[in-house]
Amino acid sequence: MEPDGDLNPDTEDLPLRANTNHVLVRHYVLDLTVHFDKKVISGSIVLFLEPSGDFGTKYQDFGATGEGTSELRNPQTRMEKTFDKAGLQPECGSQTEGVNSNAQASQLWESTSDGDFTLVLDCCDLDVSNVDEVDVTSVSDHLPNVACERSETVGPRAAFIQNLFSAPSAEWRQKHHFFSLCSRAPAAPDGGSLRFYRDRWSLQVRKTGVRTPQKFPRVIRIFYETRPSGGSVRWTKDQDNRVCVYTAGSPINNRALFPCQEPPVAMSTWQATVRAPSECVVLMSGEDQAVPAEDRDAHFLTWNYYVTMPMPASTFALAVGYCIESAFCHPSLEDENLSAADYSSMADDGISCSHGDYPCRFAERSAWSQWVIPHRVFSPVCLLQKAQVEFFLKLLPRCLAAARDVLGVHPFPRLDVLIVPAGFSSLGMASPHIIFLSQSVLCPGGSGSGVGSPSLCGSRICHEIAHSWFGLVIGARDWTEEWISEGFATCLEDIIWAQAQQLSLQERTEQFDLKALLRWRRLSDELQNSKEELQILRPNTDKTAQVSDSGSSTVKHALNPDKTFMQVHYLKGYFLLRFLATQVGEQQLIDFLRLFVKKYHGQLVLSQVRLTSDQLVMLLELLLEESELSVALMRALQRTYSLQKQDAEVRHRWCELVIKHAYSQAYGDVEHFLVHDQAMGVYLYGELMVQEDAEQQALARRCLSLVQEEMDQSAHRVVEEMIL
Ligand SMILES: [Zn+2]
Repeated sequence: MEPDGDLNPDTEDLPLRANTNHVLVRHYVLDLTVHFDKKVISGSIVLFLEPSGDFGTKYQDFGATGEGTSELRNPQTRMEKTFDKAGLQPECGSQTEGVNSNAQASQLWESTSDGDFTLVLDCCDLDVSNVDEVDVTSVSDHLPNVACERSETVGPRAAFIQNLFSAPSAEWRQKHHFFSLCSRAPAAPDGGSLRFYRDRWSLQVRKTGVRTPQKFPRVIRIFYETRPSGGSVRWTKDQDNRVCVYTAGSPINNRALFPCQEPPVAMSTWQATVRAPSECVVLMSGEDQAVPAEDRDAHFLTWNYYVTMPMPASTFALAVGYCIESAFCHPSLEDENLSAADYSSMADDGISCSHGDYPCRFAERSAWSQWVIPHRVFSPVCLLQKAQVEFFLKLLPRCLAAARDVLGVHPFPRLDVLIVPAGFSSLGMASPHIIFLSQSVLCPGGSGSGVGSPSLCGSRICHEIAHSWFGLVIGARDWTEEWISEGFATCLEDIIWAQAQQLSLQERTEQFDLKALLRWRRLSDELQNSKEELQILRPNTDKTAQVSDSGSSTVKHALNPDKTFMQVHYLKGYFLLRFLATQVGEQQLIDFLRLFVKKYHGQLVLSQVRLTSDQLVMLLELLLEESELSVALMRALQRTYSLQKQDAEVRHRWCELVIKHAYSQAYGDVEHFLVHDQAMGVYLYGELMVQEDAEQQALARRCLSLVQEEMDQSAHRVVEEMIL
């Protein structure tokens, strides 16, 4: 029986519990074994931790002295308590024995905290057997060539790990070697006295007597195994009726595969060793194609993968099965017919990387010359023999080259495409270095049969390829903003696919228009047949990307099963971009997107509408020329631009608009303006009177009576003449 933590089982929102404002995971080392007989993945994960900025600063003095004052310690204790108390309130009428015992376990964990710092990881459906502090002394002491300034405040082992984090990216091989050595180092005596606790959505870890993130162990190892029913991976059979397992693109992401920090701000690198039956293929998000190595057990092979670009743990993908490789294409690094102009896009605009230090392809000259990255296609044997896979193999490099034409350098150095089992719930899913593709998009007749067209296959693979730029190398800081990746990928799939087909301008326009019409029909249908709250692109409005003090948050509607099948966010985002293309021109939009990618790759973004004050004045003046504006539009304007908080010029235009359209909900804004901005308000009195609206006239009289004592004499006379 597991305590329910803070989850109300009816909620449709996904909790992100990790306290990323206190500690960040910088690197994961996974060591896993796949057991098809038990449908379980077991092993360990080692987390390399760093106290994070906000909390670090706040507690710096405290951490340095090692002696806490109660003033400093209390905020932390209080926060934990409110956190858990919220979780202890059982739903009304559902007070079963289970809930009570959960509550008791939770209360016990809380009451024994004694002010100790708690590391909270996102985790569900995992059986955790042990959590150890790793003693890296054996690694740090035998590596005199690694600069290791012994810090007075954090101790030599923490300083060693900190130096490892901050080593320059060019030394990534050495860094990974040390991470790997550390991950195999022995546990601290008595496991470092770590205590842990599981609830429905989290794994929580404390070290007795450690009250701050600074003093918390920098390297911890968690032994665990997944459950057959856990939501992150799916155990199933492929089209050859052989077992396979893969990350299913679940709304709970990878937290039922390994304990991790789910919030997208927690970007980290990883290394993974996966042990699987020797006839299996293990595919994973990793920069190199892994070559399987022999294992102690002759029935198994081990596969090693790694990434050097920090990414959210949710982007990690894994697939293990008996599929086979149908083709391997390693194009020559330099394409033959490159002109000097092709390189110019790399540097001429003066935009350079603005992310943290990692080995980045955008800064690598040879990467810019690579139109087609090395790629492989994996599928079950029975599909491999069909013409459709053969046809797909010809299509893929064309789509990759077209994507490079449109968006610039490929963010990832290689790509595997896996044709997933028929039960996969979507047509495709993009992860770093790997795309899962449904067999449904393979065209039924192949290319030569004259039956069927490659359109579905081509546009879908272009959509997934586009996610390398929009969704992976540029991610949304708040997952409720799904449109940032899906809207862009939907718009770009048309552009890339048209490029891959080398259509004429007219063919291209016709294809785009037909696509737009089909999508419009789909959107209209969904708008009529789905809940309005699920249709909103930014459901958190101005609270988008806001998190609690600890860094936890929830993803709105993420667990709503209806939402999985909705395309509203794809389509609305697509229509917004298509509208922009019609306004500024398609090529201008593409040029802008390329610059956007160069500036924001390696980072997380939010969609925000920010207009300068002058732009807002212009917008409102143009709207003043309209004879009719709906109440809904007025409300949206006020809310979107927080008009009552803008400067007096903007508020003046807003008040004019409010009066003209008799938008009575905002009469308070008019009154505020007439009282506090008397120098600019004189003519608003005239506008209030001229409409011959009793409510507006009463408003004018009331405001004048409020300010007449202090009002400038000549202004007062003018207004009085208007009103009387
Ligand atoms: Zn870069």
